[in-house]
Amino acid sequence: MNRSIETLKGIGKARADVLREAGIATVADLLYYFPRRYLDRTIVESTALREGTQATVIVRVESTYIAHGKRSRLVVHCQTMRNEPLHLVFFRGVGYFRQVFKKDDVLVVSGKIEYFGGLQMAHPDFEHMDEEDESALIHVGRIVPLYPTTDALRKKHLDSRGLRRLTSAVFEDAGLNVPEVVPPDLLNIHKYMGRQEALQAIHFPQSAESLESARLRLKYEELYLFNVMMVHKKETREKIPRQVRPVAFGKSREYERLLTHLPYTLTGEQLRAIEAMLAETQKDFASAVLLQGDVGSGKTVAALGAAVHYLENGLQAAMLAPTDVLARQHFRTLVDLTGLTDTIHIGLLTAAETKKSKTATLEQLASGDINFIVGTHSLIEDPVVFKNLGLLIIDEQHRFGVEQREKLRRKGKNPDLIAMTATPIPRTLCLTEFADLRIVLLKEKPAGRHPIKTMRLREDRRQAMYKSVRKHVSAGRQCFIVYPMIEESEKKDLKNATEGFEELRTSVFPDFKVDLLHGRMKNPDKERIMNDFRRGDTKILVTTTVIEVGVDVPNAAVMVIEHADRFGISQLHQLRGRVGRGAHESYCVLMADAVTEDADERLTALENSDDGFYLAEIDLKVRGPGQLLGLKQHGLADFRLADLYEDRDMVQQSFADAQEFRDINEDARSIIRSHFTEGSVVFPT
Ligand code: ADP
Ligand code: MG
Repeated sequence: MNRSIETLKGIGKARADVLREAGIATVADLLYYFPRRYLDRTIVESTALREGTQATVIVRVESTYIAHGKRSRLVVHCQTMRNEPLHLVFFRGVGYFRQVFKKDDVLVVSGKIEYFGGLQMAHPDFEHMDEEDESALIHVGRIVPLYPTTDALRKKHLDSRGLRRLTSAVFEDAGLNVPEVVPPDLLNIHKYMGRQEALQAIHFPQSAESLESARLRLKYEELYLFNVMMVHKKETREKIPRQVRPVAFGKSREYERLLTHLPYTLTGEQLRAIEAMLAETQKDFASAVLLQGDVGSGKTVAALGAAVHYLENGLQAAMLAPTDVLARQHFRTLVDLTGLTDTIHIGLLTAAETKKSKTATLEQLASGDINFIVGTHSLIEDPVVFKNLGLLIIDEQHRFGVEQREKLRRKGKNPDLIAMTATPIPRTLCLTEFADLRIVLLKEKPAGRHPIKTMRLREDRRQAMYKSVRKHVSAGRQCFIVYPMIEESEKKDLKNATEGFEELRTSVFPDFKVDLLHGRMKNPDKERIMNDFRRGDTKILVTTTVIEVGVDVPNAAVMVIEHADRFGISQLHQLRGRVGRGAHESYCVLMADAVTEDADERLTALENSDDGFYLAEIDLKVRGPGQLLGLKQHGLADFRLADLYEDRDMVQQSFADAQEFRDINEDARSIIRSHFTEGSVVFPT
């Protein structure tokens, strides 16, 4: 299995090189190079040939001749077993094919049946049949695999046919012995076939049923091994000894003070989440938590509740946010919520600070005078030194790479981690991508929130929409009007937003203060604009997706999203979460004209549900995990067979199995190493 591909017959240096290029370096790699689809070429002998259909039939060669015409061609006269005439026609390689077919040869041919004065197949797939050994057929007469190929592979005759031949030869080798990698107990419990049988059946299935069973078994193998890896990874990480310890839950005076100082009472979910996060800190290893909650569920204050336990014990905490606007807002929230205290000193560090204030902040961080710092990427930079960082909080964690997170973490002595998501992440993705984090859920939103009424409008209702915005603004509410903004069409998007803004300001709502905010503005301008809006001076804020993240203005009750069909579900849900944060009835209008089927599904889901956990599942289905999480940031496991949406039950099952059956053999480890490239996993020996 693990021998090099070069040991196979017919594979010299040149072919081995292109195979390696395609990720096939060993025989095992070849066997895990799965077909992308199949052609059903099981032989049909019972029905007559019909023009226009694909067919696979056994024929006997009668004669061959070259027909000269506009294009000369080789014609091979054949007869099927039902004595129907069938011509095989070859326009290319006439000289070659002429040598290939002899009178009375028995062939299996497969192709499309055409009619040109008689039934014929042009350039069919064919194979000479050795009548003694029908089972040796590779290319026809069976369900035939089609492989993904590349130009480089094709040049070396490693197209579907070539790969088929190569793979088939591996299975024909009597010495082939594919070791089992899933524990036998699990195979028994789930009634899966053995590995060798499954690999053979996925390449050369005897029937649609055996193909399905093989796929199931191999999918399971993939998920099970992945999960075993994650179990070990988690254990490796959990072995980072704890060097910092916050005050235990229930013992913090600062926390008690915070509870009385807050303008609201924490929800049961928030209290439970804070307790759960601190329970982790009583263990001997550094803790890492993924705090999952729907948009607006109050994650910030939950993180704050945990943080004060660290501050009280003389440790520092840092909160990392993806944008300036958000970092500033967090800073303000934290200052407001904690009130004046001798214990808590909050600082802010972003790229926008003046050099002088930055230097001061850095000094205070190093000396410990600031014990709670809020900031953007600037926090990750080298000059930032902590006295004793005990807790790292990452907001909107998907905006940061693992490397950035670790770099910041290394600035402390194994600090604890709380990562927060913008909107919920589907459970299967949590199990796979974030299995090394302990998941803490905030399932409910604070009481008294009205669900956001969401409706989708076409262009012809625009005037009615404006009228309704006017009504709400006149009643004292504020409104967001959001334009899409993506990198690929940034210039055009910006123009749309700017023109939209001009139109709204001058002709639609000349009597209200309308403002524009987008990511390209200078930081002081952004700040001023946000402040005006937060204070309620600005009634209507035209903006791009910069406000997607975290912005919290409770009096904003209406959101209009232009070109809503261009956004993904989670993004729309997150945007929509900017309203419905106060006591007022809130509305979200999705403007979209003609839409694709996918977009239709997204918008309908948004109209019908306000539940981020549910919408996340739909998003996973529609967009897939890569899009959902942003492939770039995550070393997202690249599953060959498993689909995290379709196979979600199996994901959960295999996760449970992996925890119970975590010991795997060396063959299984080698699969993990080559399929998931997780160099960092340390297996217990
Ligand atoms: P998210 O989970 O989306 O980050 P935030 O932390 O921004 O949510 O909180 C959303 C809003 O809910 C904020 O205005 C916050 O002040 C408010 N909030 C948080 N917890 C409560 C609570 N227990 N009761 C009432 N309002 C709350
Ligand atoms: Mg938030």
